[in-house]
Amino acid sequence: MAKYKLEYLWLDGYKPVASLRGKTQVKEFSSFPKLEELPLWGFDGSSTQQAEGHSSDCVLKPVAVYPDSTKKNGVIVMNEVMLPDGSAHPSNARATILDDPGAWFGYEQEYFLYKEGRPLGFPKEGYPAPQGPYYTGVGYQFVGDIAREIVDTHLDLCLDAGINHEGINSEVAKGQWEFQIFGKGSKNAADQVWVTRYLLLRLCEKYGVDVNFHCKPLGNTDWNGSGMHTNFSTTYMREVGGKEYFEKLMGAFDKYKNEHIAVYGPDNHLRLTGLHETQSIDKFNYGVGNRGASIRVPHSFVNNGYKGYLEDRRPNSAGDPYKIASRILQTIATVPTK
Ligand code: ADP
Ligand code: MN
Ligand code: MN
Ligand code: MN
Repeated sequence: MAKYKLEYLWLDGYKPVASLRGKTQVKEFSSFPKLEELPLWGFDGSSTQQAEGHSSDCVLKPVAVYPDSTKKNGVIVMNEVMLPDGSAHPSNARATILDDPGAWFGYEQEYFLYKEGRPLGFPKEGYPAPQGPYYTGVGYQFVGDIAREIVDTHLDLCLDAGINHEGINSEVAKGQWEFQIFGKGSKNAADQVWVTRYLLLRLCEKYGVDVNFHCKPLGNTDWNGSGMHTNFSTTYMREVGGKEYFEKLMGAFDKYKNEHIAVYGPDNHLRLTGLHETQSIDKFNYGVGNRGASIRVPHSFVNNGYKGYLEDRRPNSAGDPYKIASRILQTIATVPTK
């Protein structure tokens, strides 16, 4: 038997965006614990905007488990928040995602690294040289001295945890980065995005660096905002598809455009302006290879007879992947397949 350190993570009740919370319990297991061996746990919901003081117990229900290579016998446990009667807490968006093992999601998470209130590499006053050389840039003048160490270490921590990273790159604005996570199953990639965010936030603590997930942290300037492009497919889209189905699907995305925007992250009107490779927030369109569209249709999709995955470019960097996946699958479910 060995004592394992179980870091239970959950999302709090803050609005418009939930934050990660975590606390540790120590338990003995004969080997690395499986999900079904992990006990329910609880926390004081009155401290996380999830309950009133007089009846404040919330329940943590483990839903995914990952090794934590930074600690001896370290375990990261992602949880759903439940009410004491066993039903889902209103803040629990994961519980609203349709179960579909054939749904695949790929999230492209952009974010800024911040130190002392400004992006890494920004001077105390004013701005660095304009955008251009920073995207995929190499060299101190473009990426500074600690960002590379942070993102490379972060990638290793995630791979150790079994997170299915597909890649990382520096982005268009100075101090801005991206990682891509792919997963099969309607909830899997979203769980991984939250654990990846957790590992990044925690790693940055020791550098005195904050991760800024706001979609337009530099406001109305020529500096890019941050998105979380969401690539999605279902078994039907990959195996049957077809132009007629695709057009009906896009009709449904148009019909529910406001419902989508409502869960695609706060302050998105600052980012979806029609500039900087975005469509305006109040319009819906799609286009083949079009990075200025709401939904970009990959060339491969058309070449394969309207089969494959689509990229929704509207979700932003602060969006909750649970809410995003939930809404996308809800809209897809309104379109009949035959
Ligand atoms: P770009 O920056 O050109 O938009 P990326 O390479 O950053 O593209 O991201 C593409 C994303 O699409 C990846 O996260 C990848 O996992 C995802 N993806 C690829 N195939 C599928 C699929 N069949 N279903 C869902 N997502 C997919
Ligand atoms: Mn990308
Ligand atoms: Mn990008
Ligand atoms: Mn993209």
